[in-house]
Amino acid sequence: MSYQFDHRQLADEMEIFFFDDQIGAGLPVWLPNGVAIRDALESFIKHQERRQGYQRVISPHIGKGSLFEASGHLKSFGDNMFPPMKWPDEQVDYYLRPMNCPHHHKVFSSSQRSYRDLPLRIAEYGQVYRYENSGSLRGLIRARCLCQNDAHIYVDPSEARNEIGRVLDLHEFCYSVLGLKGYRYRLSKHDPNRPDDFDGPHDEWLKAEDILRQSLIEKNLPFFEADGEAAFYGPKIDVQMKVGPAEEESVASVQLDFNSAKKFDLKYIASSGELERPWVIHRAPLGSHERFVSLLLEFYDGQLPGWLSPVQLYVIPIGEEGLRFAQKLEQELIKHGVRVVVENNAGSLSKRVLFAHRLRPFAKIVIGQKEAQNGPLVLQFRDRKVSCNLGNLVEQIKPMISVPA
Ligand SMILES: [Zn+2]
Repeated sequence: MSYQFDHRQLADEMEIFFFDDQIGAGLPVWLPNGVAIRDALESFIKHQERRQGYQRVISPHIGKGSLFEASGHLKSFGDNMFPPMKWPDEQVDYYLRPMNCPHHHKVFSSSQRSYRDLPLRIAEYGQVYRYENSGSLRGLIRARCLCQNDAHIYVDPSEARNEIGRVLDLHEFCYSVLGLKGYRYRLSKHDPNRPDDFDGPHDEWLKAEDILRQSLIEKNLPFFEADGEAAFYGPKIDVQMKVGPAEEESVASVQLDFNSAKKFDLKYIASSGELERPWVIHRAPLGSHERFVSLLLEFYDGQLPGWLSPVQLYVIPIGEEGLRFAQKLEQELIKHGVRVVVENNAGSLSKRVLFAHRLRPFAKIVIGQKEAQNGPLVLQFRDRKVSCNLGNLVEQIKPMISVPA
């Protein structure tokens, strides 16, 4: 599927985010309309994750160099990291984190775990920073700071395939609720000819890759395989989508990591009483807000489903009486959690309706004298009109804008 729309132009019109020279290239500032989309996505996925036994944590955006030496990020991902920060009174370097994993491994080791705690699912909408070349920056698709729908699942290796299956189910569920089409799965493997780029022995790689392959087959999900596209710590399943006019991008991934537990000396007490190392599944079905929101904007040409629309109801009042009524309506709708904008521009009604389009509201309503005097209200959705009154307006619109459960 190809998307002919550019999220940067849509985001400008819809007031989603902006860049500022003094803040820095690739560092987007999210505006209230953009945050409305992020909040709706978070509310949706956090509810799903809670139902599936994920526990949420919040960890710092920075860490000492030794943390990223232990994880292997400085060695294998260092080119994508911002340079270190140094304080004169501390003899250590601190780095902005490029991934959340090391912090989550520390959550695992913060207490003694046993087989009864596994799978342990640790989730965070985690902010990360990556030093992308200025030439490769592209709106929100390639930015230098991103907020990921991240989680790390610590499993008994024999349970890895089962848990990967659950994670793939969550991906499919999310994309069907979001109405996404045209994506494909890629099994991203190591490259045996470049052993330095991929940690751990070749046979462990083959074993982990086969677990991912069998999980995809079992779930009946079409996929293709690619050599050399794995993470340095393990193979992964990427969700590939074509975003905008440029080439296909990975928007989400599930990674099977058989290396990190050793690097961080992670252990749990197995049912035998022995200490064992878990495997780690890294997963982010909604990727980063940055890439995912740009994808949704382009996929829907800005006409997002009601629950994701930053402006759910756009009210155009006519005259003083209309304005007073519209403001009363606004107060009422805000109480019900509807994102509403009352516009009060000068100019002809047709011009004002056209102007409303730039924000891509989910529904519009014009309030003139007749409507203000208890006449019927006409709720204009993108594809149809519905007649209602003040008493049942909320009832009409609420089911279409509620976050899917
Ligand atoms: Zn991770």
